[in-house]
Amino acid sequence: MKCPKCGNENCSIINETTTKGKDFSAGKGCLGALLLGPLGILCGGCGKGKQTMNINYWVCNKCGYKWKM
Ligand SMILES: [Zn+2]
Repeated sequence: MKCPKCGNENCSIINETTTKGKDFSAGKGCLGALLLGPLGILCGGCGKGKQTMNINYWVCNKCGYKWKM
């Protein structure tokens, strides 16, 4: 693999995890705690519709440029 920025061929693959969708809402968790106690915190933090994605990136060891595979 060649770096598209500087043309260096010394590149390595890194893996990044990104979360998509609804993230943990602290406000929602607090509200749940008020209404339901500790159980409400769990409900607020269950994160419905949350998706985790693993994306592989190439990283140039020379200039640090990062791009998607
Ligand atoms: Zn580069």
